[in-house]
Amino acid sequence: MYDVVIIGCGVIGAAAAYELSRYDLKIAVLESENDVATGSSKANSAILHAGYDPKPGTLMAKLNVEGNELAFRIAEKLHVPAERCGSLVVAFDEKDEEHLNELYRRGIENGVPGLSIISGDKARELEPNLSEEVRSALLAESAGIISPWDYTLAMAEVAVKNGTELFLNTRVTSIEKGECFTVRSSKGKTFKTRYVINAAGVNSDVVSEMVGDREFSVRPTAGEYYLLDKSEGERVSRVIFQCPNELGKGVLVSRTVHGNLIVGPNAVETDRGNTATTREGLAFVQETAKRSVPGIQFRENIRNFAGIRANTEFDEFCIGESRSAKGFLNLGGIKSPGLTAAAAIGRYAAGLLKDMGLELIEKESFDDTREAIRFKELSDLEKNELIKRDPAFGRVICRCETITEGEIVAALHSVIPARSINGVKRRCNAGMGRCQGGFCSPRVCRIIARELGIDETEVVEEKEGSNVLYSRLKEV
Ligand SMILES: Cc1cc2nc3c(=O)[nH]c(=O)nc-3n(C[C@H](O)[C@H](O)[C@H](O)COP(=O)(O)OP(=O)(O)OC[C@H]3O[C@@H](n4cnc5c(N)ncnc54)[C@H](O)[C@@H]3O)c2cc1C
Repeated sequence: MYDVVIIGCGVIGAAAAYELSRYDLKIAVLESENDVATGSSKANSAILHAGYDPKPGTLMAKLNVEGNELAFRIAEKLHVPAERCGSLVVAFDEKDEEHLNELYRRGIENGVPGLSIISGDKARELEPNLSEEVRSALLAESAGIISPWDYTLAMAEVAVKNGTELFLNTRVTSIEKGECFTVRSSKGKTFKTRYVINAAGVNSDVVSEMVGDREFSVRPTAGEYYLLDKSEGERVSRVIFQCPNELGKGVLVSRTVHGNLIVGPNAVETDRGNTATTREGLAFVQETAKRSVPGIQFRENIRNFAGIRANTEFDEFCIGESRSAKGFLNLGGIKSPGLTAAAAIGRYAAGLLKDMGLELIEKESFDDTREAIRFKELSDLEKNELIKRDPAFGRVICRCETITEGEIVAALHSVIPARSINGVKRRCNAGMGRCQGGFCSPRVCRIIARELGIDETEVVEEKEGSNVLYSRLKEV
């Protein structure tokens, strides 16, 4: 019998597991996909929002501001790339300026530090590539950028190191409530548990319906992006937003922690799981972004992608114990700023479970550390030492990002081992560069096959069934 079963291992499930793994509890995390962080937590803007946007007095406002602070602290402790670079919301006309004033007022009420409204000229002094049309801007010094999948992975890894059991490729199909919960999964495995946390992202309404709960419904809303080469990475230093609207936070231009430029998203209602990009959507993103930063060279684009927001009918996160099933906690409809708020949501969830009767006794042995080797960030001396210890660190596999065989092997034997080409990419950046894996993917594929003791035709790109090779040519 488990104390807590968490459904979904995006950043919210991972944050809940991270927080709960401090306590003496038997925890399982059930994730339908082949890895953690494959849903919205993989495909988003990767911004740690300051917290001036949510309405004062909402849970979203409180968790945004707390989560921003916690995210930077956790990132530093667990070696997750993050940077407090600040953000600007730019205004082009009087209506936008009214909006900036409103955001400023909200920010002050929400307790956001380092907020000020600056003139267009001052904004251009800070960001020389900003449009001449910008009349003023809201500067938020506490905003920043993070690697969203690394953040998710880091929290999940600490949870696993501290005894949490993670079940991948395990989709929850039904839940029965009796003396305890019986959670059934796609693989036929059944989990008995006292408490359930629903962190199923865009499917969180489907999972809550499994206990007869119809308190919210998800309206999946896609956001499409451009990811530009590092040659465009210095175009801006801060995150540049335009004024948000009811569908999202507007099209932004930002550096990523990996040194690229990210531009997007739009907001289009779609079907769950539809992460295709469209010509019209990308054209809109390009045109809108050029309003704030006209000089962006879109020919430097290396990838387009889309992420799905778990928008609901509420302008709030759907967090709370289900009215239909005692012991069932919804962390549902976690749209933006969910990434920022994640760690605070994890803490808040632990507090709610305590109020719901779960005893929380802190473990003495809780290990809140994580190792990460990033070869290219080492000094020459450290590189030499590492290569002497393990010659695999002397073989560069991904030339664009200078990722060594040693790092790929480490990713395949880490606390939550990579099981796919994209899993390797998320852990050590192999394939993230200008050629997007064109050169290194076949070599990564070979290393995966060798390390996992499988045939190369069994290696998947991401999900089960996404095999990258059909068969050996001479056999066809
Ligand atoms: C376009 C876009 C831009 C965004 N930008 C930002 C930003 O810049 N800053 C910010 O703070 N937030 C941002 N967000 C919001 C943020 O990404 C999300 O709030 C956050 O990732 C939600 O995490 P999650 O764990 O709830 O969902 P997910 O990451 O989607 O995780 C849910 C998990 O549940 C699993 N699952 C689903 N159903 C089942 C089932 N039946 N059984 C088992 N597992 C299941 C899924 O496979 C998935 O892994 C953005 C979101 C989008 C889409």
